[in-house]
Amino acid sequence: MQTASFTSRQLFLRHQAQTSDFPLLLEIERAEGVYMYGPEGARYLDLISGIGVSNVGHRHPKVLAAIQQQLDKYLHLMVYGELVQAPPAALAHALHHTLPTRLNSVYFTNSGTEAVEGALKLAKRYTGRTELISCHRAYHGSTQGALSVTGSEEFKRSYRPLLPDVRHIEFNHQADLDQITSRTAAVIVETVQGEAGVRVALPGYLPALRQRCQEVGALLILDEIQCGFGRTGTFWAFEQFGIEPDILLTAKGMGGGMPIGAFIAPQEIMAVFKTNPILGHLTTFGGHPVSCAASLATLRVIQEENLLAGVHEKAALFRRLLRHPAIREVRGCGLLMAVEFESFAVLKPIIDRALEHEGVLTDWFLFCDNSLRLAPPLTISKEEIEEACAALLRAVEHVTSTLAS
Ligand code: PMP
Repeated sequence: MQTASFTSRQLFLRHQAQTSDFPLLLEIERAEGVYMYGPEGARYLDLISGIGVSNVGHRHPKVLAAIQQQLDKYLHLMVYGELVQAPPAALAHALHHTLPTRLNSVYFTNSGTEAVEGALKLAKRYTGRTELISCHRAYHGSTQGALSVTGSEEFKRSYRPLLPDVRHIEFNHQADLDQITSRTAAVIVETVQGEAGVRVALPGYLPALRQRCQEVGALLILDEIQCGFGRTGTFWAFEQFGIEPDILLTAKGMGGGMPIGAFIAPQEIMAVFKTNPILGHLTTFGGHPVSCAASLATLRVIQEENLLAGVHEKAALFRRLLRHPAIREVRGCGLLMAVEFESFAVLKPIIDRALEHEGVLTDWFLFCDNSLRLAPPLTISKEEIEEACAALLRAVEHVTSTLAS
């Protein structure tokens, strides 16, 4: 696109705040299903869903229809929690129906990191304790509370002081669980660790964590911002691990492409926000009616189009097809997958080659740079998976044979 004499690319680089010196710089004009389209007919197969968001594909017609219907009624009316608006009320009800009965109170936010912030405040208020425990290599967000419980010193160092009284344990290490004590307000964990490179809990780990929290009266917060809303093949990932959280976090895929998040807890816990002080957690836009309408449509698409049923089969097809001597391992839970190579030096040119020569968009992980991220829309077809894997393997073969020569 051209504005006055500048291209969008020039305006992006000059005036949009940059957070690295090497942005992807892919220009996209429209998107549909699993594809994104750039200028001059460029087409990209989206294998990361921007990231973990477009679970029902880009611009799902039912999501668009719900947005359109809400646009015809009203946009923002009032700050959180005062007026009765049908979209958030209906969405809270529908979310409750996907959950254990205990989790019956939903607080809507605009993003994942805000869901984390709300949940940490809630846990501190409810327990009257201050210590927060999270895992090494966990990613929980970029605002200061969420950053405090993120498990990467590299990301935090320059922003200290952050929240005090935060400690980190090793995911999947049962021996670390005794660090959770009667001082602990909450333990926050991703049910499946995302940015650590898709690390799935070993059998027994999450139940042992659940039990330890119970014993010492700490709340268990499950961050399903990346792994929820069908990504792993069940609506919520925790359903596969035989546990229930005290507070559940969701965002990303929840909005079908619109910004929304939530923290969900029993009413009895959530009630602490009503007093001392009154209005214990506030937001202007959280639970925006258009985002809620889009989210409810997304939830219904996942249920009515039976998307969960196909997830494991699709993941198995990726695993079957992605075989190459340079691929060391394929980890995953449903369609949240990581393909491991020897090093970033091998992986990065593969990602670049796949994008530039094959039109396939992938990525690596914040805390795992030798693994390729695979998180396609759950709507991806068998043919599209075959197309994706053939393209990826061509890129792998090209790069590894070039590096070898
Ligand atoms: N938690 C997890 C597990 C995430 O993957 C992310 C985003 N990558 C967040 C929290 C933060 O969400 P947001 O970017 O919407 O603030």
